[in-house]
Amino acid sequence: MGVLKIHEPQAKTRKSAIGIDLGTTHSLVAQEIDGKVVVLEDTHHQALLPSVVHYSPHEVLVGNEAKAHFTNAPQDTIVSVKRLMGRCLKDIMASGCTLPYQFIANDSSVCELQTSQGKVNPIQVSAEILKALLKRVPEHDAIIDAVITVPAYFDDAQRQATKDAAKLAGINVLRLLNEPTAAAIAYGLDKNAQGTCLIFDLGGGTFDVSLLVLSQGVFEVIATNGDTALGGDDIDVLVANWLVEQLGLTSPNHALILQKAKEAKEALSLHNCVEITIENKTVELTLAIFNQLIEPLIEKMLGICSKVLKDAKLGRSQIDDIVLVGGMTRATKVRESVAAFFGKAPLTDIDPDKVVAVGAAILASILSGNSTFNNMLLLDVLPLSLGIEMMGGVVDKILLRNSPIPAVAKQTFTTYQDGQTGLSLHVVQGEREMAKDCRSLAHFDLTFPPMSAGKARIEVTFRVDCDGLLSVEAHEILSGAKSAISVKPTYGLSEEQIIHYIEDSVIHAGIDLYSRKLTEKINEAKHVLLSLEKALAIDSHLLSEEALQDLLEKKQAIELAINGQDISKIKLSLQDCEKALQDFSQSRLNAAINQVLAGKSVDDIESILHD
Ligand code: ADP
Ligand code: MG
Repeated sequence: MGVLKIHEPQAKTRKSAIGIDLGTTHSLVAQEIDGKVVVLEDTHHQALLPSVVHYSPHEVLVGNEAKAHFTNAPQDTIVSVKRLMGRCLKDIMASGCTLPYQFIANDSSVCELQTSQGKVNPIQVSAEILKALLKRVPEHDAIIDAVITVPAYFDDAQRQATKDAAKLAGINVLRLLNEPTAAAIAYGLDKNAQGTCLIFDLGGGTFDVSLLVLSQGVFEVIATNGDTALGGDDIDVLVANWLVEQLGLTSPNHALILQKAKEAKEALSLHNCVEITIENKTVELTLAIFNQLIEPLIEKMLGICSKVLKDAKLGRSQIDDIVLVGGMTRATKVRESVAAFFGKAPLTDIDPDKVVAVGAAILASILSGNSTFNNMLLLDVLPLSLGIEMMGGVVDKILLRNSPIPAVAKQTFTTYQDGQTGLSLHVVQGEREMAKDCRSLAHFDLTFPPMSAGKARIEVTFRVDCDGLLSVEAHEILSGAKSAISVKPTYGLSEEQIIHYIEDSVIHAGIDLYSRKLTEKINEAKHVLLSLEKALAIDSHLLSEEALQDLLEKKQAIELAINGQDISKIKLSLQDCEKALQDFSQSRLNAAINQVLAGKSVDDIESILHD
């Protein structure tokens, strides 16, 4: 009898996708390693990377090294770039932005800044921050999978810009995750929290409040609200203005004063009084004065909390837990005001600076399929309503704010003129009634044969994917005319621009383009294998012995091609497997339908089909 020799597969350390908190002020990266979430540090054991990028004539610096140039070269040192993401120059000017940059006049949807290294846009700046974070990730591939967090209030353009930045940095975004939801994931899974929970996130640039219901690993965001222009930066400005006034400074160095203001503010979370010296003049800032200065902002924050409660139809006492997120929630006054408002002390167990990155890493780990965490269902909500401009400039909202995503909604329209042969659709985002007050996302046209007024039936479908990104399709039912247009946000980079930037950065980084493409192909093939394995584990009985054998051989061919690291072989093996995979999916679908319809009457089936 022959002896079967069995080779033990070599034990490998499991590598999870990473979670990134791309913050206005600080950014962090965390990763699940062997069942534990670790916030990755730089060589100086710092977890928080200041979201600052400095462009000197010959190099690009990120983090503390960049921050060191904040006072001497403010125009070359980009801070709070997150505030500029997905924004054109017009938006920035309209928001009364006080950032000290040299914006380049352009009509483009992406604003640009002049630095000593030439023109840069916010997407490129963010990509530098992401690349600096990637350096902390132990031995990773050329393309790395990640979950990146964004404020709940980010609109389509801002989300798209974040994805573009990730792409530039060599990151494959598994999911964009709302920051408050990430905090809930961190608390829910680590501490098994149950009940209703309000996430109060006050960072450097944004304020987000989200109301979540947590139960047995299921998170449902039932309401969100916030302000994209309210945070620690604004408090710094208040303190800076106070300093200028108190010290009677006539030609103040704004960058220096802001820096001093920030330091004083942070010190006041631990002390009752701080001394500040600028240009040989000294002033004392007490906690009492500081609290008075920030009172109006705190009122604003609590007002936003009230709105969220109202949206969710809940009273203050019905909130089981309040979670504090963001460095600014270390301020005593913020903690006290929140506690007084809700009548209970907020949770602060997990470091408020790290909690978002921890949550992102947990989701990244789950999505990359190698988590030791329980699987969970994550329901997120749409931050802003989406709709279409109607006659007279009124907005017809098709998907409402706070709808769970992914979401699909349809609406049917008709024509108002005889012989009308087309319709121009204007897609907008926002809560206001008039289109001119909302953010314009896209314009597109649908043409169809002439019909009498009111006869055409134009069905418009809005789809929002897991990342909160929208696509819209229009379809005239009678004529069958279709305008299957995916809305690309008006803001953000074109595909060509992205490719250009990637190639550019690849050339500069000296990375081989081929290895990048190979990694992409290998990732694609691995995804196919993973879903095939899952499907086989459940439904292999649906296949004939022959078909099963055939599929297994094709699967093995893909595995061999991956091991061989040959792009064209991987492509061929995938193509070769396609037909067999389709057949298998078809039989799985049929089996599922049969199961649903088994034992149902015709009426039942009709109602199932109409649901
Ligand atoms: P973001 O999410 O916008 O990146 P962070 O969560 O890192 O922001 O919070 C940054 C803000 O927190 C800054 O305004 C910073 O000054 C403030 N901050 C950090 N530490 C403290 C502290 N000890 N006391 C008060 N504010 C603080
Ligand atoms: Mg934050």
